[in-house]
Amino acid sequence: MTLKVLKFGGSSVGNADALRRAAAIVQTELPAGGLVVVSALRGTTDRILEACAAASREDLSTAQAVLAAIKQRHEEVATDLGHLDAVEAAWTPLFERLDQLLTGMAMLGEGTARGRDAALAIGETLSANLAAHCFQASFQDVRDVMKTDARFGKARPLLPALRAAAAPWREALKAGALWVTQGFLGASPEGATTTLGRGGSDTSATLLGEALDAEEVQIWTDVDGVLSADPSLVPEARPIPQMSLSEAEALSAFGAKVLHADSLAPGGRSGFRLVVANTLRPGASRTEILPHPPERPAGAVTSVAYKEGIHLLRFPASAGLEPPLEAAHSLEEAGALRFGLISSPAGTLLAVRPETHASLGVLGTLAASGVLCEAGWAVVALVGEGLRTDPVAALRHLVALGHEPVGGLLTGSSTVSIAFLVPESRLVDLIPRLHAHCVLPG
Ligand code: ASP
Ligand code: MG
Repeated sequence: MTLKVLKFGGSSVGNADALRRAAAIVQTELPAGGLVVVSALRGTTDRILEACAAASREDLSTAQAVLAAIKQRHEEVATDLGHLDAVEAAWTPLFERLDQLLTGMAMLGEGTARGRDAALAIGETLSANLAAHCFQASFQDVRDVMKTDARFGKARPLLPALRAAAAPWREALKAGALWVTQGFLGASPEGATTTLGRGGSDTSATLLGEALDAEEVQIWTDVDGVLSADPSLVPEARPIPQMSLSEAEALSAFGAKVLHADSLAPGGRSGFRLVVANTLRPGASRTEILPHPPERPAGAVTSVAYKEGIHLLRFPASAGLEPPLEAAHSLEEAGALRFGLISSPAGTLLAVRPETHASLGVLGTLAASGVLCEAGWAVVALVGEGLRTDPVAALRHLVALGHEPVGGLLTGSSTVSIAFLVPESRLVDLIPRLHAHCVLPG
């Protein structure tokens, strides 16, 4: 029997109506059983973090007020669905545990990453228990199989241990069981709860798909699959029916928000079909991400992605390579994303996106020490398998840029993308123009 894994994100299980829609999808997609992975109810992870932050400042009353709000919201949703009595037995100890964890943090005046993961796990466990009732499925705790290292807050899977632990799941699911489990969570070798990093439920679903030898993993979200550009800038952006894993990797690296970048590797290793579909319009188009590329005309671009908030650091050639490499290293350590490091006899350019306070701090220190730093840049990428077979297409497409002040061409190891830097203020005009020139003609 073919095995499918379905994943519903926070907005797809955000309220009673969303859960009803998800239940209908489960019924259609998994008539003969399968696995459903769910995130916490929309906003819950943020609220739990807020409660932990308050508790760590010894502000227990705020932490408990947030907890009460989380509890009330969950109970309202469960009542609306008619499942409050059914979930109560599972939920009561979870709310008590969250209360204890927050009290402990407040007593210590400190929240460790380990404590936060234990608290965060409650969000996913609440929603998975409720979803199990909605889907007439049974709840299984993902921590029985998702074996990870002990990097709390950003744990990495231990693949052989995960695969071994998943054997009984594989057997039961292939025999027709319908199970619901939590995304985002794992267990360290000592059995402590870990999390895979924010937005990690996509990765949970694909890792489980790999470990279970699933044929298909479906990510249910709130867009009609992967679009050819950001629809807020390009109203005529269209869904891409099929794309290669390399295209999906390039898109998520360069800013498309549909899939978490870490979630793509398992499909590459395992070869399952990865599908992105819209919970609000299950019958609408979907995107299939395939390990083997679909046929594309030479030079064809399938999508345009961008990411703003890029800072450029310029180092004179006379400084050599040591300073830019050191800067890149300390910025990444502090939580900046690196988009490019280009060195030529004329000097070195480093393009980064500071994503944390710490990385902004490092940027400030570098600027104070005399490094030229410019904010307000964006990276734009043209992505398509067609670029692999016709690399000169890159030059033809760049003609569409006209007189744009381009800051640097970033040709990375990916041969399915061309990326370059432009001032942020140009995006509104440039992205639609590039889309019209490079994507629509195909
Ligand atoms: N609930 C987690 C988060 O909000 C994981 C996820 O939604 O993927 O980050
Ligand atoms: Mg998500």
